[in-house]
Amino acid sequence: LQANELNKTFGSRGLFRKTSFQAVRDVSFTLEQGEVLAIVGESGSGKSTIARMLTHLLPPTAGNVSYNGESLRDNKALRRSLPTFVQMIFQDPFAALNPHHTIGYIVGRPLQVQKRRKGDPRPRVLELLTKVGLTPAEDFIDKYPYQLSGGQKQRVVIAKVLGLSPSVIVADEPTSMLDVSIGVDIMNLLLDLRERERLSLILITHNLGSARYMADRILVMYAGQIVESGPSEELIREPRHPYTRLLLQSSPDPWREEADAMEAIEPTGPPPQTGCSFRLRCPFASDRCAAESPALKEPETGRFVRCHLFE
Ligand code: SF4
Ligand code: MG
Repeated sequence: LQANELNKTFGSRGLFRKTSFQAVRDVSFTLEQGEVLAIVGESGSGKSTIARMLTHLLPPTAGNVSYNGESLRDNKALRRSLPTFVQMIFQDPFAALNPHHTIGYIVGRPLQVQKRRKGDPRPRVLELLTKVGLTPAEDFIDKYPYQLSGGQKQRVVIAKVLGLSPSVIVADEPTSMLDVSIGVDIMNLLLDLRERERLSLILITHNLGSARYMADRILVMYAGQIVESGPSEELIREPRHPYTRLLLQSSPDPWREEADAMEAIEPTGPPPQTGCSFRLRCPFASDRCAAESPALKEPETGRFVRCHLFE
């Protein structure tokens, strides 16, 4: 899966003036088969917008997404069959399940619609529920969502998605509404499925700890742009961008040794439109940072940083 210079601008034409907001700017990356990639950033950084563009829930303003070299924008047949390539899991398992339907119906219905399977989906549904650890599956298939816990509901969502045998799953904060230990179970389930079902995963999260736990590679987003990316272990061990360093400081990680504390500057308003978008919060900001926006550079193979300090 490839994101090629993705841009998304949201505009609204008000009565008196037109406003626009650039949610995503020039985001490019490649997800290899079997890889787990984490996109990390705070809310408003554009990470969920990227997820929606990857699954074509939202068309990009510029740039495109391609699968195996085929661009989604130019290929209508590919867009139509997209659900069998890529599926999305959302933050809120409570909202994702129709309360009026049984688990059997929820998991079985997409098999009939998307996969055009005729006949009784029940055996396949039982198999899917077993795969996601809802066992014995017979005890779950006739239940309604309200009879399940949050973690069990997220497992149902995953079973439903797996039924379409996608090659990529995009998970947008899949554990943020669950208790920590339940969240870890769901992360382990996803990692397990990656092996067993040969899936590639994109994890969208605000938490560098979960990103490190899950992902081979991490992209850090700030104000709609990638500010740093690299292999997870290296990026956590030796963060380069000042924003990544602040993020690490604010997410205590038992595996990491204490880094030199940096003085965080609280955000005072929206990111500036000129120069570096992080400069109002950056302890290292200089005149150059106000005058010139930094480009994404690769100071070391596989490590990308958008900061004048690393050119
Ligand atoms: Fe800080 Fe300047 Fe680097 Fe931006 S370019 S992160 S303001 S040092
Ligand atoms: Mg979000």
